[in-house]
Amino acid sequence: MSTRIPLSRERLKHSNKSGHRELYSGLIRLHVLYHASKEPIFGLEMIEELGRHGYSLSPGTMYPLLHGLESKGLLRSSRSGRGPNSRLVYRATAAGRSALTVAKHRVRELFSELFEDVMNTAGETLVKRRKRS
Ligand SMILES: [Zn+2]
Repeated sequence: MSTRIPLSRERLKHSNKSGHRELYSGLIRLHVLYHASKEPIFGLEMIEELGRHGYSLSPGTMYPLLHGLESKGLLRSSRSGRGPNSRLVYRATAAGRSALTVAKHRVRELFSELFEDVMNTAGETLVKRRKRS
């Protein structure tokens, strides 16, 4: 699903306040888990990716987050490359993938509740258009 809900700069600024971070921590983890299920990921790349979605995370937050997901058995790390250019990459484990599947259903539930009115309006518009033709 590529639907992006546009956020104003002001709202994004608010979303970075530490008080709100707790609210988004699950979303951030799901985001990371999703990308790790698609391809191997590394910390800085995820910081940039989440930045595009309006989350500002420091390495000091991202790396413990990745370690935490690994210690829960949802991600597995391995060294990629050799020497000074080598880095730790993370992939979703089988447990991580099945956790993601369950989480997707829950996100869909939440999504349809949060956007119930928007969806209803869209549905009504569709019905009206059909009636006209
Ligand atoms: Zn993403």
